Amino acid sequence: MNLNKLFALKKAAPISRSILFSNNISTSAVSRDYKYVGVREEDLYSGFTNKAVNKILMGELMKGMMTTLGKFFTEPVTINYPFEKGPLSPRFRGEHALRRYPNGEERCIACKLCEAVCPAQAITIEAEERADGSRRTTRYDIDMTKCIYCGFCQEACPVDAIVEGPNFEYSTETHEELLYNKEKLLSNGDRWEPAIAANLKADNRYR
Ligand code: SF4
Ligand code: SF4
Repeated sequence: MNLNKLFALKKAAPISRSILFSNNISTSAVSRDYKYVGVREEDLYSGFTNKAVNKILMGELMKGMMTTLGKFFTEPVTINYPFEKGPLSPRFRGEHALRRYPNGEERCIACKLCEAVCPAQAITIEAEERADGSRRTTRYDIDMTKCIYCGFCQEACPVDAIVEGPNFEYSTETHEELLYNKEKLLSNGDRWEPAIAANLKADNRYR
């Protein structure tokens, strides 16, 4: 080995030591990031002291009372139903209704599309031709206990006759009361027409 090579090795040695040293530094830096999951002795005593102070000063109770006081001045998230009611979407699918034209004539032309499309087979229609040649239903029944409120009947109707209105308060005591006939559906339509018309208008651009 000549002198030049020996000199080069001597110069290289301190570099390798510094690399080793820097590795040690980075290892200890990583270990500082470790999370200590056990209970340290000092934490044990400070936790005990905190618990004792909390108990004596009723800290939990005070925290609860402060939360109650904070919520006292904010708007409540609950409503006083049935005197207050939440907002309903124009697409809300509630109780069914049969609509009329402004002159009082029934909209339904007895095409039976709603009956055909109903997946629950809840609709039963019978029809006949009138003296003026128009076709109208003689029977329009919906078994509301079969209905799954899918809205298909409303979507299928070409004249917006059968609709699901905004009424959701029609619970009954007996099954029979939920077997709706044409008279019941038409009276629903007469009762809810302003709200139904407003909902259809609001949703018109999406239909
Ligand atoms: S909402 Fe659906 S299940 Fe109910 S009557 Fe209409 S089509 Fe039938
Ligand atoms: S309610 Fe509509 S879809 Fe059903 S029979 Fe009458 S016109 Fe046809």
